[in-house]
Amino acid sequence: MKTDYLIIGSGIAGLSVAIKLAEQFPERKIIIVTKSSKEESNTQYAQGGIAVVMDKINDHFEKHIEDTLICGDGLCNREVVEWVVTEGPKRLQELMDWGTQFDRAEDGTLDLGKEGGHSYHRVVHHKDQTGKEIERAVLAKAHRHKNIQFLDYHFAVDLLVFDNGCKGALVLNERIGKQFAIYAGFTILATGGIGQLYRKTTNSVIATGDGIAMAIRVNAEVNDMEFIQFHPTALYSKAAHTFLISEAVRGFGAYLINKNGHRFLFDYDSRGELASRDIVSRSIAAELKKSGDDCVFLDTTHLDQNAFKKHFPAIVAHCLTEGIDVSVDWIPVIPVQHYLCGGITVNGNGQTSVENLFACGECSRTGLHGANRLASNSLLEAVVYAHRIFCFLKDTELLAVPFTSVSKEQFKEYQIPAEFIMERDSVLKNLIQQNVGIVRNMEDLEDTLRQLILWRDECERISQNHHLPKEFMELRNKITVAVSLVTASLNRTENKGCFFKEDTARFK
Ligand SMILES: Cc1cc2nc3c(=O)[nH]c(=O)nc-3n(C[C@H](O)[C@H](O)[C@H](O)COP(=O)(O)OP(=O)(O)OC[C@H]3O[C@@H](n4cnc5c(N)ncnc54)[C@H](O)[C@@H]3O)c2cc1C
Repeated sequence: MKTDYLIIGSGIAGLSVAIKLAEQFPERKIIIVTKSSKEESNTQYAQGGIAVVMDKINDHFEKHIEDTLICGDGLCNREVVEWVVTEGPKRLQELMDWGTQFDRAEDGTLDLGKEGGHSYHRVVHHKDQTGKEIERAVLAKAHRHKNIQFLDYHFAVDLLVFDNGCKGALVLNERIGKQFAIYAGFTILATGGIGQLYRKTTNSVIATGDGIAMAIRVNAEVNDMEFIQFHPTALYSKAAHTFLISEAVRGFGAYLINKNGHRFLFDYDSRGELASRDIVSRSIAAELKKSGDDCVFLDTTHLDQNAFKKHFPAIVAHCLTEGIDVSVDWIPVIPVQHYLCGGITVNGNGQTSVENLFACGECSRTGLHGANRLASNSLLEAVVYAHRIFCFLKDTELLAVPFTSVSKEQFKEYQIPAEFIMERDSVLKNLIQQNVGIVRNMEDLEDTLRQLILWRDECERISQNHHLPKEFMELRNKITVAVSLVTASLNRTENKGCFFKEDTARFK
């Protein structure tokens, strides 16, 4: 296949670029490849909202910039922070023009929530299902453009890079199990996060780091991979899927307590429940280590229950399915993997270090988050960088699309037992969960890296010239990303933001 623009991923980042290009160039072709259903993404699960300065009387861009820089712990790129924050209102208006409904106060103005690390109310939201509403509206908008072709259940396997540039991607049609090449003038990675490397994560099943692994295989620059954000309050349950109890619940006034009812966060930070995520997560980890308990609790019983239900209907309903009535019961919570602050390095135009290859959204590393992401800044980053890529491409001459057919004989079928993939995946998840968590140490990291390199080399041998199932390719990608994550963790000599190694000083 041939296309002018190939976009890999149909979350907020990929869809936003597609809509803008489709509107600007109705005669040009855009293909969106997405490996699951069109809506399955981390975007779909975002709860709290999108951080934008909308109350210009009490709030100010400078305060949002300052909050972002503080959270990033000295490693943000100030210029990037400034332009992302100040572009927020325009990009938010665009989302609303595309049909996204955000909650409004009685006077008709946007209802603004407050989350950990923010000095003011500025989180625009749709109840506790902001991502679902955004994905619905943006997907509907993309469908209205005839020049956007969706290929759902198509898995991008590898980037096609030759003659010093990216010329598209090799793609697996999951329905029929066949691979083919899509040649493109420009390729945009919008493949999201890496949560599925961990046993416990808030992320969607699609979050296997594919885009980052593909970028690593073509030697694109990747940075800040050690900065993994752990969300402090995922519901503690026996269920395989980890359900998130939004940060906004603490912003709304919930207390974080131990089993004795003690608000222990004030023992660690004067901001208590509203300290930034890394501090809250580490404090919970320390509290659990001290007590030997399995979880701590969120107490919402003192809050106005009608208002709480109105703001958080999905959370209230989900808790009830687990037998927790939030008006009388404490909610058991633990910290789990949530967000990757680093990723594929891009410049202000969203360009990677590989010619004609772009990246935006959670798979990219823009410099906004530094060592830690401020809550609700990621949806904002995704729309701002989607716009930046669009602005660059709008003024860039279309490239002739190359076409060299990939010989079918080049690929042989390879039977790989499903049990092998499942077993290896399970061991990998346990290893990463245990050794690359909230608190790391050099010895465990070194052992982990040795194991990962053996697995990576084995996967690459199997992958050469073979058709393999999607599950194997996801495992291969997770291992590739894990090598990068562990290497970056080993190399870091100073604890910053959400990164904490017990023995950093020893290795300086
Ligand atoms: C539970 C939860 C709550 C959150 N709450 C908030 C919040 O309140 N505010 C906020 O700002 N952020 C929040 N986040 C983070 C935010 O949702 C994500 O960072 C953001 O949505 C990422 O968007 P994206 O478009 O980059 O990736 P995603 O939305 O994850 O989309 C990635 C897309 O790429 C596709 N894809 C991946 N690999 C391949 C491949 N190999 N081939 C083809 N397609 C592929 C996927 O199928 C998917 O369509 C939350 C995240 C989670 C998990």
